[in-house]
Amino acid sequence: GATIGILGGGQLGRMLSIAASRLGLKTHIFEPGANPPAMDVAHTVTTAGYDDQDALTAFANAVDVITYEFENIPTSALDLLETLKPLHPGRQALATSQDRLVEKTFLRDLGLQTAPFANVENADDLAEAIKTIGTPAILKTRTMGYDGKGQARIMTPDQADSALADMAGAAAILEGFVDFKIEISIIAARNPDGAVACYDPGENVHVDGILSTTTVPATLTPSQRTDAVLLAARILNALDYVGVMGVELFVTPQGLIVNEIAPRVHNSGHWTQNGCVIDQFEQHIRAVAGWPLGDGSRHSNVVMENLIGDDMDRVPEAAKTNAAIHLYGKADVKAGRKMGHINRITGNA
Ligand code: ATP
Ligand code: MG
Ligand code: MG
Repeated sequence: GATIGILGGGQLGRMLSIAASRLGLKTHIFEPGANPPAMDVAHTVTTAGYDDQDALTAFANAVDVITYEFENIPTSALDLLETLKPLHPGRQALATSQDRLVEKTFLRDLGLQTAPFANVENADDLAEAIKTIGTPAILKTRTMGYDGKGQARIMTPDQADSALADMAGAAAILEGFVDFKIEISIIAARNPDGAVACYDPGENVHVDGILSTTTVPATLTPSQRTDAVLLAARILNALDYVGVMGVELFVTPQGLIVNEIAPRVHNSGHWTQNGCVIDQFEQHIRAVAGWPLGDGSRHSNVVMENLIGDDMDRVPEAAKTNAAIHLYGKADVKAGRKMGHINRITGNA
């Protein structure tokens, strides 16, 4: 069977490896950190930095296709890897999602709604952006942010200076605050033939900037559900995308507003492991390996609860119930660290 190369050995790489192994495929993980969660389940692990050209070359030569579990892969590494083996999802998807300004501009040019936004390089830009966009607003670093890191809320214009200081000189974007009813995400997949399959949108609750729960079905009208599917497909087709993508959306009375896209399997798609016959991890492997996609249909209602830090204390109680427990095998419990998740089935779809 083929070997799938995966950049990143975190929990997403781990669950991708498990899915690949079920399909009789091998995975080869490339990860700079020692003892990554994917290590127990991958066929091969290369421990090396993204600046190690020899290690990158050997990795690429050992695999049939390259994918990844996080989007902040250094450009120099990608430049080398893509000359050696197919990279899925491709460079356009990565370049778009790595930079919030490029991402929002791409989405707007596709005709989709985003929060109002402006590029902010200095205090003058910020003052100008606050005049146009108003407050409340959120200043975000353009690159590298995740789990709400690299963000500063500006409730009134006098908070501009301290928000800019929080960016520590990083390029930033100001976003108008969206007064959303709920947050949802749609997990969608596309294969090299251009087939697209979407999962039912999930309703997301964040606590301290980190995803806490995802519930399916989400509280949506049928037309909102259709809108979510259509806009996700539009994004995937525009990027000639191959793989699974997570699209985060705000639901407002004025329609669906795209918050951000993630060119990979997504935490808010973990419910698919117990709500669908073919989950997002198998779907991603199918897509990058050129297999037909599963249809994404949902057989159960599910609540996915993330286990962050000390939430691990809830595992013994959950183990006495009929909940599906997914743990990532991380040795140290740290505040804010994603340790695992629980999928509770709450009924038939
Ligand atoms: P992730 O871990 O999902 O990649 P992130 O660090 O990239 O998160 P965002 O998704 O941009 O951050 O923001 C985190 C959360 O903050 C959102 O899910 C939403 O709850 C809130 N938020 C972000 N931008 C806005 C906005 N423009 N208006 C209202 N709320 C927002
Ligand atoms: Mg993000
Ligand atoms: Mg987000």
